[in-house]
Parts: sequence; structure tokens; C-alpha cells
Amino acid sequence: MSHSEFNEYATVCDECDLVNEVPLMEPGESLSCSRCDHLLVSLPKKRREKILVYSGSGLLMLALALSFPFLSFSTTGIGRTVTFWQSLSVLLNKQFTFLGALLIFVLLVLPMCYLLSAALLTWLINKRRNRVLQRLFLRTMTVIQPWLMVDVFLVGVLVALVKMQSMADIGFGLSFWAFCSYVLCLLKTVSLVNRRWLWNQVAGAAKCPPLMAGSARAQGLVGCHFCGAVVAEEHGHCGRCGHTTHSRKPASIQMTVALLVAALLMYVPANLLPIMNTTFFGVSEPSTIIGGVFQLWGMGSYPIAIIILLASVFIPIAKILSLSWLCWQLHFSSHHSTTQKLKLYRMTECVGRWSMIDIFVVATLTGLVQMGGLMSVVPGAAALSFAGVVILTMLAAMSYDSRLLWDQEEALLAGKNSER
Ligand SMILES: [Zn+2]
Ligand SMILES: [Zn+2]
Repeated sequence: MSHSEFNEYATVCDECDLVNEVPLMEPGESLSCSRCDHLLVSLPKKRREKILVYSGSGLLMLALALSFPFLSFSTTGIGRTVTFWQSLSVLLNKQFTFLGALLIFVLLVLPMCYLLSAALLTWLINKRRNRVLQRLFLRTMTVIQPWLMVDVFLVGVLVALVKMQSMADIGFGLSFWAFCSYVLCLLKTVSLVNRRWLWNQVAGAAKCPPLMAGSARAQGLVGCHFCGAVVAEEHGHCGRCGHTTHSRKPASIQMTVALLVAALLMYVPANLLPIMNTTFFGVSEPSTIIGGVFQLWGMGSYPIAIIILLASVFIPIAKILSLSWLCWQLHFSSHHSTTQKLKLYRMTECVGRWSMIDIFVVATLTGLVQMGGLMSVVPGAAALSFAGVVILTMLAAMSYDSRLLWDQEEALLAGKNSER
């Protein structure tokens, strides 16, 4: 691998809008933004081969995970063994169509499309064939990536098993271990994918207008948020990937605030209504998220009780509050530095999807515990509003434009300089 592996001239940081020149890079090196330290490009050794191996193995493991028993559950002499597909289809059969479809989408359809695209894309790049398909696969991967949640699901399954250990014997089927390997392969593939590098492989180096130091906007330039190319602002679209370009996300703050308000409205029923209903010998007992935390605490599973409390109660509200604060900061600046604000933003963006844990716990219990009148679990009314909170806060974080924070800092500095 030589410089031809990545021959870009410059790229614009997605998080602070600074134009970074790209030096000659050797395999094993990486380039981070010189202002905000956001990772722009990394060049791991033998990346194409690794992506092909991990995405291929991921698909194989997914096929295995769907073919054998996933979990088994037995209590007072009666038992039930479910495959992964059965545990998800219970939700569809029990009229929780939306929840069932959502889970099938995030646990099977999206990861499968991602792995398939990654495998086929690297294969086509190696063969230097069909540029049109290469672009299609690359677009698919870019859109799907933030919505991959299989690792969160795995933690959800483990929490569900801890909840049940006092009342039943749990067995792990062959598929469970295949599912764990599938999760690991998927995480490894995601960590190897870098869209700047991939676009460079698929479409070559982007044509680069003359550059100066500083932010792209000050020079009438835009960084394409899809492929990282530097584009003149007046073009309105990227010459390399064809995506429309915006110097800043349109109506970013209004959109973020609207999504946050919607999330806050759904947060109330999500915590007050029961998230699941357990029927035991004909007696139905609803439980809320907080009720579940108390139950786990009572069973002595303190770490898991704390994880659920953090993921389901604390993180969503902390996320809503910190994003609101970040929006407010754009109008009324405080003494906090832009780097500190950016750190907060990155944190809210990366912890967001972990709030899905409780939804996955309920889904696992519903899939597994179906013993007719003897014992059964179904999701409660809160499950849907809770999934809504998680999705809305994720969308809110995505529509927030962190580059506005840097614009504000630049404006303040310019103001100070002109006062002198
Ligand atoms: Zn940056
Ligand atoms: Zn582009």
C-alpha cells in the first residue's frame, strides 16, 4: 500500500469546519483535525482484506444465529426453546407490530444490508468493477451506520437473563454464541470503515479549489458531509458524490429544539406507564421502568439495576437537557470553552443508542416467556413511547450542527480583535 491508497489533497472537518490539508500518509497512520481532534482519516494496514473477512464472517454468523435454538427457558418442569426469529416474531403475533418490525429492522435488516454492502463494495473495489454499484453500496453504508444497535441488544439479552434467573433455568443455544460472534464481526467492520477513505477508493481524489488556512465557510467553501470533499459553496452539490452540500445544516437549531420537545413529551408516559405486563398463574402484574430497577435491586443485582437506571431514566433526560443547553449556548454564550461544549455534544451522540437496552430486555422476555396462562410477558404501553424517546433524541443529536459553536467562537474572536 502506498500513497495511492489515499491521495486526497484536503478535507473539511465535519465537526468544526476547519480545512485540513492531507499530508502523504503511510499505512498505519491516521489524521485528526488540527483544531478539534476529530478523527478524519485512518489507514489501517490491509484494511480491504480485513473488511472483506469480517463482513463475510459476520454474514455467516448471522445465518448460523438464525438457524439454531437461541435461548431455552424452563421452570417447574415445563420448558420452551426459541430460535432468534421466533423470539422476535412473538411480538408480531401479539399485535405489537410496530415494536416487532422496529426490532427486526435494527437487529436483522439494517446490519445485514450493512455487512452485505461492505463485503460487496470491497470486493468490487479489489476487482475495479462497476463504479455505479460501488457508489450505491457506499451510500447504503453511510446511511445505516448510526442505526446499528446489535451490541446494545446483546447487553439487553444479558439483563433479561439476570432478571429471570431467580424463577427459571436458562440455557444458551448454539445460536446465542453465533449471535455474539456476529456482533463482534459487525463492530469490527464498522471500526474499519472510513467513508473518506472509501470515497477516495471509489471515486478518486476530489478536485480541490485553492485553499487558505481557517474554516471552510470563511473561504466560500463547503465540506461535503457525505464524502468529505472540499467544494465551492456556490455549486450547491458535491462534484464527486453528487450529494447536495450545505455550509451549515438548514434550520439546525429549530429542528433540534422541535425534536427535543417531542422527546420530552414522550419521556413522561415512557416512565409513568408500565413497560411490561407479567402474567403469573393468571394474575397480571404491570411494571414500570423504575419498578424494574427496584426489582433488580431487591434481587441483589446492584450493577444491573444501576445500568438500567442510568440507561433508561438518566441518559435520555441528560441527553435532552444537554442538547437544550447546547442550543441555548448558541444565543447566550458562557465562559465554557468550545472544546468543552464539543466534548459534551460528542458524549450525547455516542451514549444515545444505549438507552434502547430496556426495550431489548422487554423484547427478549416477551420472546422467551410465553407459557400460556401459566406465565407470560408482553410489552406495556410505555415500550412504544420509550422507543420514541430514544429515536427522537438520536435524531435531535444528528440535526444539531456543532460547527455553529465554532462560528460563534470565531465571531467572538473577530469582535475582540476589532475592539483593539
Ligand atoms: Zn475539527
Ligand atoms: Zn461528496
